[in-house]
Amino acid sequence: MDNEQNRALNLALFGPPGSGKGTQASMLIEAFGFTHLAPGDLLREEIKTKTELGLKAEAVIAAGRLVSDDIIHGMLGRHIAAVLERGGRILLDGFPRTLGQFDFLEQFLAGRGSRMHGVFFLDLPTEELIGRLTGRRLCGQCGAVYHVQTLAPKVAGVCDVCGGALVQRKDDNRESIQGRLAAYEQQTFPVLKAFEAQGKLFRIKADQPREEVYAAIEDKVRALLEETAVGRRA
Ligand code: ADP
Ligand code: AMP
Repeated sequence: MDNEQNRALNLALFGPPGSGKGTQASMLIEAFGFTHLAPGDLLREEIKTKTELGLKAEAVIAAGRLVSDDIIHGMLGRHIAAVLERGGRILLDGFPRTLGQFDFLEQFLAGRGSRMHGVFFLDLPTEELIGRLTGRRLCGQCGAVYHVQTLAPKVAGVCDVCGGALVQRKDDNRESIQGRLAAYEQQTFPVLKAFEAQGKLFRIKADQPREEVYAAIEDKVRALLEETAVGRRA
């Protein structure tokens, strides 16, 4: 039986650091039941638990550079395969970030009879990114995302959702941010062009309130779900 709940959908949130990918991801997960795959989150977990991979990646991340494609492919490949096997929906966040990762993803999905259905580019002027990143705070317990000015918690330093302590990411300092923005310009921007050439890119104006950004994405997700249903019936 075809219904909206069991239709596969593979999407990605794309954009420079601080453009709002994690914020939108948490809203989309709740509404559409995606499995959220964010290499940044996975790598921070490896660092926290002091795995071999985490120890290797720590200095690279602190410098704002990209971790090698080999590491990212191994990590993401495992997770993507697991979601496809159980027929789940994928929401990529921060991947692919190089043309090598783009090619890997295309081949990996095609080899499993799947594909990307849409990519949302959160378009935000560069001058707004720095303020978003330096003011970002995260709950160390549940990962909820705040901002000291535009989304402050009710009690300073305390998560509204779970009461956990809020922390600042180590790479949300001006020096790392410069490195991350340079990596985006040089290595990640060409990926946007590749998705655009496939006709899969949806440009979303990201310098508007979170709810309005979400509404623009949500409309398109519903349209894509409808298209995948038509594809199935055809
Ligand atoms: P990314 O995952 O792309 O790095 P985040 O979702 O973590 O970005 O957002 C970066 C910062 O900007 C966070 O502090 C978040 O609260 C804030 N933010 C996200 N979306 C908006 C928005 N639409 N308007 C203002 N601030 C936002
Ligand atoms: P993010 O949480 O997306 O801001 O990512 C934090 C950091 O993790 C980045 O600055 C990179 O060092 C690393 N990282 C995250 N995703 C990738 C990726 N797809 N390829 C390489 N490095 C990544």
